[in-house]
Amino acid sequence: MNIRILFLLPLFALFLSACRDSGTSSNRGKLGYDCYPDGTCDAPWTCVAGICRNVVSNNQNNDIVDVEDTTDEEDAADVPDAGDVPDATSACGNGIREEDEVCDGADLGTATCVSLGFAGGTLACAPSCQQYDLDGCTTGNGSAPTPPADVLSTGTGGLLLRGVVLTPTGVLDPGEVLVVNEFITCVAPSCAAQANNPTIIDTHGIISPGLIDAHNHQSYNFFPEWVPNPPRLFENRYQWAADPQYEEFILPYTKHRSSNTHFCPGSKWAELRCMAHGTTTLQGQPSASGSCINWGVRNADGYHGLGYDHMHGIIGSVRDVDDATAATYMDYFTRAVDPITRFHVHMAEGYASNYILDEFDSWAGRDPRPNRHNGLSLLYNGTSILIHSIPLTEAQLQEVKANNAKIVWSPSSNMALYGVTANIQRILQLGIMVSLAPDWTLSGEDDMLAEMRFARNYGIVNSIPELTSQKIWEMSTWMAAEVVGLHMHIGRLEAGYRADIAVFGRTGANPYDALIDSRAWDVRLVLINGRGFFGDSNLQAATARNPYCETLDACGTGKYICVQDSPTGTNRTNETYVDIHTQLYNILEGIGYPEDEQYGRGDELLELWTCGI
Ligand SMILES: [Zn+2]
Repeated sequence: MNIRILFLLPLFALFLSACRDSGTSSNRGKLGYDCYPDGTCDAPWTCVAGICRNVVSNNQNNDIVDVEDTTDEEDAADVPDAGDVPDATSACGNGIREEDEVCDGADLGTATCVSLGFAGGTLACAPSCQQYDLDGCTTGNGSAPTPPADVLSTGTGGLLLRGVVLTPTGVLDPGEVLVVNEFITCVAPSCAAQANNPTIIDTHGIISPGLIDAHNHQSYNFFPEWVPNPPRLFENRYQWAADPQYEEFILPYTKHRSSNTHFCPGSKWAELRCMAHGTTTLQGQPSASGSCINWGVRNADGYHGLGYDHMHGIIGSVRDVDDATAATYMDYFTRAVDPITRFHVHMAEGYASNYILDEFDSWAGRDPRPNRHNGLSLLYNGTSILIHSIPLTEAQLQEVKANNAKIVWSPSSNMALYGVTANIQRILQLGIMVSLAPDWTLSGEDDMLAEMRFARNYGIVNSIPELTSQKIWEMSTWMAAEVVGLHMHIGRLEAGYRADIAVFGRTGANPYDALIDSRAWDVRLVLINGRGFFGDSNLQAATARNPYCETLDACGTGKYICVQDSPTGTNRTNETYVDIHTQLYNILEGIGYPEDEQYGRGDELLELWTCGI
């Protein structure tokens, strides 16, 4: 047990006792609080050992903070969770599954892929020892790479793509998508009647709308995952954000995050990571210094090229909104010219302490404190994007639905940080507009495809029939477009929509599963506004957006990637892939920076893709 843990635990315990309701107020029956005297909780929570638990969307053991575990017992039947206290000999990485661990190295307890609900495969342990690594488990709907695409003919009348086409109303197999300039002009089994001398490509793959990442913090996405030492879970986002280890981990960026020297390469790297994984739109808090990201993928909160900037948001607590600020937001929503149609907030990212359970009611105008907006609900007319929404009660989810508010579900980050995530089953049952997003690479998956795999695995392990591979794809395409408010333009393969298209070079019994199985090297072509930004080398001549694209090897597959607007451009539009990579490496390593910024961490740079996983 190290000194920091010794120091923190009494404070932590005090915090818990101060913030956890004793059961006498209105919080009784809510997630993380005492059950009612008759042993029940508000729906959908379940009373477990006197405390209301989430047994639908919880971790594999249906266990958040197992009260009995706070005695720190250690035996074969013990369920590891956030309430456990590591003892002196416990250490993630020693190959022994101890009481604070789900698994450790090869010690997986009695769990196997099959016992967790998969068809087969090999189970592993995540580096944090707090979760299983399910990547090696198989669904039974195996997929395989397809032969390379063929350019059948070249022409001047746009681009005709052939393959398995995923539309909102079903699968066209085979199907065709015709792109003329920046628009899709035909989606059909055959577009021959509409085509006029196009370049024809038989993709031998799956043609999908480009994926939409409805929430991220893009400028941080050159960092790998942060794993606290010792590995541990948190109750809410305010706890880890104040953790000295976390602050030290991100210091190479945060020391200068308002400077374009750091913001620009970080943000552009995130966009390159998107392109390489089939993602064409990203929500990610561009700052005022973001002119350097008016480039690459679409930024949902500005620089999307689809009309005025319709989105605002806040990163701080929703409980800090006072009457005057709330009135300003309402002016945004109701003004006659260019109203704000989407407002994103981090809603209840956690399940206990720091008043996290009060956040929803505060946003909905039920905060009784002085100088807080009381009586004016900011769940106004479908504008709210509620990111995370982990502990929302049945009544609150009903209110989300009634107000047409949107939810962004980030299961990988939630499970890594808190061991619990939102009640996605109930969210889907209620028909709430919900999208899937990784949040960022520090705690979530590294890209949308990996997040989709995490969501699929989560649905299998937790027996959630609503969470099909098709639904996960919908949550990453047309539903995500609704969430970010760009659904009139993107998210669908449909005539009249923008030609934001991703082609995946895999095939299988279920095309949605085959798409989700794809890695960067399977991403065969990425078009944004009809122009190729990334794809197989043999498609470069027919699809690349300009002559300045670079070639890269993606784990054995030759790719092109278009980074430069022009070699003679200004305002960073002349930067190459190597330029951006070098800037980030130097930031992490300290090259060219003062003595106190010699971090020596260049090797930690998260590359565009990781071979072998
Ligand atoms: Zn976030």
